[in-house]
Amino acid sequence: MNNQYTQELKIRYDLTRERIYTSAQKAGRNPDSVRLVVVTKTHPLERIQAALEVGILDFGENYPEEAVEKIDSIGSVAGLNWHMIGHIQSRKADLVAKNFSLVHSLDSYKLAERLNRFANEKGRVLSVLLECNVSGEESKFGYPTFEKRQWDVLLFEIEKITRLSNIKINGLMTMPPLFDDSEKTRPYFRRLCELQGYLYKKYPELDWKELSMGTSSDFPAAIEEGATIIRVGTAILGPRPSRLGAN
Ligand SMILES: *Cc1c(COP(=O)(O)O)cnc(C)c1O
Repeated sequence: MNNQYTQELKIRYDLTRERIYTSAQKAGRNPDSVRLVVVTKTHPLERIQAALEVGILDFGENYPEEAVEKIDSIGSVAGLNWHMIGHIQSRKADLVAKNFSLVHSLDSYKLAERLNRFANEKGRVLSVLLECNVSGEESKFGYPTFEKRQWDVLLFEIEKITRLSNIKINGLMTMPPLFDDSEKTRPYFRRLCELQGYLYKKYPELDWKELSMGTSSDFPAAIEEGATIIRVGTAILGPRPSRLGAN
């Protein structure tokens, strides 16, 4: 661990873990019940290697092609998990179904069907989270679930998805609006948790355990509201390089 970036990364990683610990304690939760996914989108390969060096094994990526290039370069490492957290175009379903351990951003039945087909080809069962738009912001992807009457509509989708034998639902994900004051995001985290409770009641036989919510700016509040997975980029890796040539 001699290079300066790796040392700084380690300091930020340790600090983040301390903050996770503190928030979990404050909420009376076991800190081990919060999984930290380090978001590496647009960061170069060397930074992922530095992260591996300090012991990070869960990585989140947003763009399938960029991710698969990195996944292939890193190769197989014991315990390594790649998380797909960005919006997925149907035509990229193949890359996603074959390369990721958990998809956080399932937002349509059409996509589910395609992921199912390619997961089947690969002979695997793909774990997914349903991305939910609990804020009503138009720029956000995810199932519209910002009004309670929309929750019933979601049930139809869930029933169809559960008939796909190579897809397994593990819970929910959300990306709330960005505020300067992270307390303002808390109601959205709370709403996702409420939706989880509703789904547990409707489908107790399904697995709703995971709540993927909280980023660098608001993960402590997300943990207090029940997050089991947080997705942190900047607070650990530093500012993101811009994405050259991307749309
Ligand atoms: C980029 C991204 C993150 C991480 O954001 P930071 O502010 O860098 O922590 C988390 N979730 C999603 C869906 C993202 O696209």
